[in-house]
Amino acid sequence: MTGNGEGSDRFGKCCDELKEVLGSEDFDPLFAVGEDGVLYMSVGVVDMEEGEVNMVDHPVFFCPFCGTKVQTPEEVEAKAGAADDDAPKS
Ligand SMILES: [Zn+2]
Repeated sequence: MTGNGEGSDRFGKCCDELKEVLGSEDFDPLFAVGEDGVLYMSVGVVDMEEGEVNMVDHPVFFCPFCGTKVQTPEEVEAKAGAADDDAPKS
């Protein structure tokens, strides 16, 4: 078992459900660890032209299976903010 990156390690610790979803090879999970190390879940699908679809991702702060806090908004902001400067400012 080699795993598929440090992400599943980091976010699979709270429970087997999340670990299995992140490590699944049987289906494409709607949870994914981004290149920025943030755990995202797909919350919607956008129909694009030419039959393509785009997933809409949102950071996950609590494990949906067991309720453990897996990351904080500050962590997400620090990681995602460094990689993406397009975040709207309020
Ligand atoms: Zn969990």
